[in-house]
Amino acid sequence: MTVTAVALRQLHRIHQQLAELRDRLDRGPRKIRACEANVAKISAELDAAREATKQSKMAGDRKQLDLKTSEQKIVDYRTKLNTVSSNKEYQTLLEQIAAAEMANSVLSDEILEGFDKIDEFDTVDKNVENRLQVTTEELEKTRNAVQEEAVVIQSDISRLEVELVGSEAVLPADFKVDYDRVVRNKGADALATVEDGVCNGCGQQITLNMQSELQLSKLIFCKSCGCLLYLPEV
Ligand SMILES: [Zn+2]
Repeated sequence: MTVTAVALRQLHRIHQQLAELRDRLDRGPRKIRACEANVAKISAELDAAREATKQSKMAGDRKQLDLKTSEQKIVDYRTKLNTVSSNKEYQTLLEQIAAAEMANSVLSDEILEGFDKIDEFDTVDKNVENRLQVTTEELEKTRNAVQEEAVVIQSDISRLEVELVGSEAVLPADFKVDYDRVVRNKGADALATVEDGVCNGCGQQITLNMQSELQLSKLIFCKSCGCLLYLPEV
């Protein structure tokens, strides 16, 4: 059972390239999911911001309505002033007017503050809207890029899979079972070089006997990590 180091090196390279391509293929959907999560997060932020603006506007409207009602009340008090007959009633009305005017002045201040707050909220809304737009465009771009990249990667994978079948054809038939098992378990790390008698898969020293077998291009597995061993290019 001999296979040249060149053939095994080639086999290892194909496994590594395939693993790298499959990894890149997996990264695509992960990138899209990250962008989608970002869009969802900012979208929720925008909902919250808009709700805050809405509540603030509603509170402002309520206060303006209260102010109007109270102003009408003052008008009514003043009308009444002309019709009261007792001094006590007159004084009471004056006090009520003064109290209502005081309350209105506070309310007016609050309404003005409310307008400032609404302006601030509107600015926040705009900012979040812009961020949402940018992130949504990013998501769209990422989706397209991932899709385009996937086509290229997929075709590279197909090409390498054909290459792999060709490279595996050099392995003896009765060796295939062991080889398939180690590839299934270790993927791209199924093969490892031996340098200075040390397996690069696990860092363990292999026996002198195994080293001479390697020199003779015999197919051997590392006894400690199970990798299919080969000699590196010199
Ligand atoms: Zn090893």
